Amino acid sequence: MEEKRGLKNRGYSHSDVDERRKAVEEFTGTNLESISKYCFDSEEASKNIENMIGATQIPLGFAGPVLIRGDHAKGEFIIPLATTEGALLASISRGMSVINAGGGARVKVFQDGMTRAPVFRTDGIDHCMQVIEWIESNTGLLSSVVDTTTNHGKLSSVEYFPAGRNLFIRFTYATGDAMGMNMATIATEAICKEIEEHTGAVMVSVSGNMCSDKKAAAINMIKGRGKSVLAEVLIPKEAVESKLHATTESIVETNVRKNLVGSSLSVTMGANAHAANMIAALYIATGQDPAQVVSGSMTTTVCENINGDLYISVRMPTVEVGTVGGGTRLPTQREALDMIGCLGNDKAKKLAEIVAVTVLAGELSTISAQAAGHLGKAHKELGR
Ligand code: NAP
Repeated sequence: MEEKRGLKNRGYSHSDVDERRKAVEEFTGTNLESISKYCFDSEEASKNIENMIGATQIPLGFAGPVLIRGDHAKGEFIIPLATTEGALLASISRGMSVINAGGGARVKVFQDGMTRAPVFRTDGIDHCMQVIEWIESNTGLLSSVVDTTTNHGKLSSVEYFPAGRNLFIRFTYATGDAMGMNMATIATEAICKEIEEHTGAVMVSVSGNMCSDKKAAAINMIKGRGKSVLAEVLIPKEAVESKLHATTESIVETNVRKNLVGSSLSVTMGANAHAANMIAALYIATGQDPAQVVSGSMTTTVCENINGDLYISVRMPTVEVGTVGGGTRLPTQREALDMIGCLGNDKAKKLAEIVAVTVLAGELSTISAQAAGHLGKAHKELGR
């Protein structure tokens, strides 16, 4: 076992995986037959995981069709979702049929940029200011350093947060169709070398938690990270009553008291019913980084009564998705991306729009179920 424990990160074969799994079976006294069954090429998967012994399966289903009126996603879509939560897909599908009754959802990516924020140690306030001044006078040089590390990544902005002898610098990049976290990290390390060399500041960590990756951080909720997306739909009063078995007034009241007041009292980042549910299921299905559900969950759901019709909208400042790189290389994830026409180049904003409309559908259905007092009943019937 000790010998086999050494990390063999790159290019392992199917038989390497079998051998490693047998060693784990021996060590743990278990039979891992189900884990041994998978369809992807282990050599390709070696870019996504070390010490591979097999695969975990999660049931995949669909919700929809849903009519989307985005700048990039246009038309009817069937959405692939991977989950173990019974009742979730039925609820999202119900929300989608109500969105269709409202003529489809309008959705827009209004901002796009991946961030990395290293922390530097300086000599104090004056040194912090000298470093900032040097960077401001040399952004052209730093952009050209970025260009040596990536073909698709471009430095788009730089922000400064000095605190005592600490200097946090938040770099934002356009990352094409990649989610961009590896790309931004590699580019930032290269930039930091230049900054250290020319200013004497010392980079303590390439990630100083002002980025902020995989944490529920207010900076991302306010400023955005990845794609920032808005989705909305106006549901006619008749569809609210016949399909959701609730009234516009009760849904708006539920949203205000639960999502706005309740989230405020519990000091929750975001104000929504369960945005993380839709994000997790779609991220897992399409090969996104599931840890970034935490930032996606900082979604704000807004409901209004417009002459008896229900206006509902989601604001998602932090949708960190890509259609190339990371987990999108794997075959089941690629097929799921293909189902929504999001495979490969020039598709990342389309995917972000689809994420937001899926969240809108789930919010609409769940808030309505709570307004009508049906949530427990639905889970009892479908999820147990
Ligand atoms: P990546 O797979 O590391 O890089 C994307 C690759 O796709 C680059 O080699 C890029 O080439 C290439 N590419 C080809 N066509 C492209 C296009 N149209 N647009 C953009 N790139 C294109 O993926 P990533 O998105 O940068 O990073 C995602 C991975 O990072 C995930 O696996 C995630 O789990 C992991 N992650 C890393 C960190 C970290 O701190 N490093 C943190 C969180 C998550 P060029 O670069 O030459 O353009």
